[in-house]
Formats: sequence, C-alpha cells, structure tokens
Amino acid sequence: MAHEIHRSDVLVLGSGLAGLYFALEVAERHSVTLLTKTVPESSNTQWAQGGISAVFDEDDSVASHVDDTLRVGAGLCHRDMVEHAVELAPALVERLANVYGVRFDRLPDADRFALGREGGHSHRRVVHHLDTTGAEIVRGLLAAAQRHPNIRILPHQMVIDLLSWSKVDGSRGCFGAYSLDVPSGQVHSHVADVTLLATGGAGKIYRYTSNPDVATADGVAMAYRIGATVGNLEFMQFHPTCLFHPGAGSFLVSEAVRGEGGILRRKDGSALMDGRHPMGSLAPRDVVAREIDGELKRTGEPCVFLDVTHLDGDFVIKRFPAIHRRCLELGIDMRTQPIPVVPAAHYMCGGVQVDTRGRTDVPGLLAAGEVALSGMHGACRLASNSLLEAVVLAAGAAEICDEFRRSAPSHVAQWNDGDTVDSDEAVMVSANWGEVRAAMWNFVGIVRSNKRLERAKRRIELIREEIREYYQRHRVTRDLLELRNISLAGHLVIECARRRLESRGLHYNLDYPDSEPAFARDTLLAKRQGAVP
Ligand SMILES: Cc1cc2nc3c(=O)[nH]c(=O)nc-3n(C[C@H](O)[C@H](O)[C@H](O)COP(=O)(O)OP(=O)(O)OC[C@H]3O[C@@H](n4cnc5c(N)ncnc54)[C@H](O)[C@@H]3O)c2cc1C
Repeated sequence: MAHEIHRSDVLVLGSGLAGLYFALEVAERHSVTLLTKTVPESSNTQWAQGGISAVFDEDDSVASHVDDTLRVGAGLCHRDMVEHAVELAPALVERLANVYGVRFDRLPDADRFALGREGGHSHRRVVHHLDTTGAEIVRGLLAAAQRHPNIRILPHQMVIDLLSWSKVDGSRGCFGAYSLDVPSGQVHSHVADVTLLATGGAGKIYRYTSNPDVATADGVAMAYRIGATVGNLEFMQFHPTCLFHPGAGSFLVSEAVRGEGGILRRKDGSALMDGRHPMGSLAPRDVVAREIDGELKRTGEPCVFLDVTHLDGDFVIKRFPAIHRRCLELGIDMRTQPIPVVPAAHYMCGGVQVDTRGRTDVPGLLAAGEVALSGMHGACRLASNSLLEAVVLAAGAAEICDEFRRSAPSHVAQWNDGDTVDSDEAVMVSANWGEVRAAMWNFVGIVRSNKRLERAKRRIELIREEIREYYQRHRVTRDLLELRNISLAGHLVIECARRRLESRGLHYNLDYPDSEPAFARDTLLAKRQGAVP
C-alpha cells in the first residue's frame, strides 16, 4: 500500500474550537496541516448550544466566576488554571467576535453581549448565538481557516497513532502522526515540529451520549499509548437532559432551558427537584443527573420531563429555535407539552494532563480542549466552561508553540501492513462496539459500585484481548481503530474509577458515598515502559 509522508511546521489534530483557534493563531508564523476525521464541521463544538462563559455583566466579577467554578469542581480544580481562564475569557470572546467574525447575540439597544444563565452559575455570563453557539463558532473559525494561505485542512483523515521517539537517557518526543485516509484506505505520515492534540471528547464509549459519532476518545488513547500522562477519567459528565424519543438520535436539550426557568417534572407533573437541592431544577448537572437516574431506576419509567409551558411561547421559540424545531419534528410542541428527557454521557472532564499552556509531558505534543486535563473542571465541569477552556488552552498553546521548533527527527518508520488482510469478520467489530458501550453504561455510569467496576473491568479486558489479536491480523479501518480506542479509553476510565475510593463530583460509588480529604487530588495514569498498550 502506498505510504505518503507530509511535512509542515505544525500539525493540528481535530477541527473543533481548540484545533481551529490554535491553527489560526499560529498560521501567521508557521505552515499548518490540520487533520480531521470526517468533514471539518463534525465535532462536539458544532453541537454546543448554550454558549461560552465570560464575565461581562456589571454585577458579575472574576472572583464570582472563579468561585462558581471551584465550588462545582468539588475540590479538584486547579486554582491557577481557573483564574487564568476566567481572567482571559472576556478578551478571548471579544477576539472570537471581532477578529474571527463569530456573531454572538447582542442586546438590541446596546453593543453589549446578551448573557444567558446556566446551572451552577450565580450570574448571567453565558455568551451565546441563539441556541446554536457552537455551530456559529465553527462557521466563523472554519471560514477564516479555509481562507488562510498557511493552513491546509485535510478531511477524512482518521489519525491512527502519534509518531514518537525515545532514547535510553529517558528523553522522548512527539513529531507528528499516522493517519488513515478513509476514502482510499491508505496510511499517511504527517511530520511536524509540534503536534496539537485537539480530538475532543469520549461520549461514544457509553451507550447513550449527547456527542456526535467522532467522539471516540482517540486523543486520550493515542497519547496514553506513547506514554503521556492521562487522568481524572472517572469524571464523565452525564448531561441530565437529552431528548428521549426513538427518532431523536443524540439530541441535547440545553441547560439554558433550565436557566430560563424550565422545571423538571415527573410523569404526574410533580417537580422532581423540589426539596432535593436549594437551586431546584437549576442545580448542577451531576446532582440533577443522579436524581433523574435514581428516579428512573426507582419507578421503571423511561424518562422524566422538562417543562417550559409556563414561559411565554414567543420567547421560547425566539430563545430556543433549534430545540423547538427538533421537538416539533418529533411531534412535541415545547410551548404546550413538557419535553421527555433522559441523562446521557456528555463531557469528559479528564484527559491528557497539560499545564495552563497546553504542554503535555511529552515534548512536542500539546493538547487543548476536551481531550485535555488542565485542572479547569476538577471533579465536575461548570456549564459553558468547556468552550472557554478550549479557547484558553488553544491560545496558550499558540503562545508557546515555538518552544519545540526543529525537534522532529528526519526519519519516519514506514507504516507496516505486514501480513494483514482485509477484514472478513466485520461482525466482530460491530459486536464489540456494542459490548464496550453497554458495559460502560451499565457498570461505569452515573452510579457505580466496586462490584460493578470489577465486572466492567473483566469484560473490557476480554474484549481488548480480542481486539488486540484482530488488530494485528487485519488492515485498519475507521471502525476498528475507533473500537481499539474506545476499549482502551474504557479501560482507563475504569482504572481511574477503581482508584478513587470515595464519591466526589461526577464520580459516585455506592460503596464509598462520601468525599474523603485524602482523595482531594487528581487520578493520574501513565503507561509503564513495555506494558501492553
Ligand atoms: C450537544 C453538546 C452541547 C454542548 N454545549 C456546550 C455549551 O453550551 N457550552 C460549552 O462550554 N460546552 C458545551 N459542550 C461541550 C463543548 O462543545 C466541547 O467540550 C468543546 O466544543 C470541545 O472542543 P474541542 O475542540 O476540544 O473538540 P471537538 O469540538 O469535539 O473537536 C474534536 C475534533 O477532533 C476530530 N477528531 C477526533 N478524533 C480524531 C481522529 N482520530 N483523527 C482525526 N480527527 C479526529 C473530530 O472529528 C473533531 O473535528 C457541548 C457538547 C455537546 C456534545
């Protein structure tokens, strides 16, 4: 099979907010190649509805945004990262709007941003574009990137693994990546001085998720395989309100709906969160998701309901046009009917460990966005802080990108197809996909226990064994590569969860229902030398 080698100064993996913003910021000084798995618009960013948090309101303050973030993060946020991000937020939002043309909603009579409110925030501070903020961000950044003479965007490139080197003295580095050109089935090498990992989230490791199909934890798996430290993967955020309907696929009903006064109700109309939390339906996501999960397990009902029928109908349509449209397509008029909702895997708080500028512990490899563990979210993410973290890390990584100039070796090992053959048992791949996601949902979901985690560990280990063997013998396909990644990421989530002998933030274990001061630290994992990937 032909093997092409492409060279550029900077390699960007992923076309969400983190990847696009970083590419644009470094392209004035460097040649940039950006690889993305399918079409550039396919990303978690594209689906973000609510918005990006930043302090603009006169009554709001940096201290208040920091406090809200730390409180929700349940003792695990890194204060330096949180302060850094919150302080930078207004300038970066202005830059998205003024330099890259992102059209955030503004108040009609003033040149100020219209600010939404979301769960866990004590002020209105969510800058948005209707209920399609992410799509608008991608539109603005992608248009700018496509126009830029120094940026080459290559779609349908499934990154397989990172290129890395190491020496006996312990030094090591990353110098690019192998990608599968999905349409042709050929493997290409992309060599660069600096590689930014911006591959986004991991929702697809669970059976039910709000994430699009590309969110298969590839970045965490690839970084772990070359020895980068990953961590806090036990903190998977389950969004409490995904639309429950057989025809809905993955569709999120934004937190902003609760922010504007939506009330969670049981089938009989009673308010679910009454007496459960001082903030009622606007309580933080982990609290609400657990309450819904408990309610559904107790009653056997398939869903609960999010009710905005008491709000002005015209306001509902104006504020939530996409949600309203989607619900109507499925026969639900949210102005007059409560919306059926269930929790689903939504956001990975953990990831590849980085500092405030996106440096991983492998020189030449930077990470930004959902794939990164920066300390911004701690044990639970505050709504609308993830777009913020993505742009802050991307901006920081762009600042320090020149540190790694000329670190790429001149030689690249050819991708070796060896004796592999085309897959003759696609059913093995699809069956294992389902098994990984079911095991993660059933045993490593919103509520965990020691027994459930051990059961999940055994199942995932068995599946990984099969996949390893299959991977050696067959030519790579996107499905197989993703399966390899979700099963490794599942394994890492379980390992993190097994090490946290307490409940905190998004991690709830029935056998350890309380938080323990001894566990007020990150859970970090790095591959041992010579260990099986
Ligand atoms: C439905 C939904 C609503 C959300 N709403 C909000 C919100 O209102 N506010 C907020 O702050 N956050 C929100 N989030 C979270 C937020 O959107 C994400 O955390 C953020 O956009 C992540 O940006 P990113 O650039 O890190 O990754 P993404 O935007 O996910 O981009 C990742 C990119 O990497 C590519 N990729 C992945 N693997 C590979 C591979 N192996 N090879 C090549 N390319 C690869 C993908 O194709 C994609 O282009 C929401 C998420 C979802 C799913």
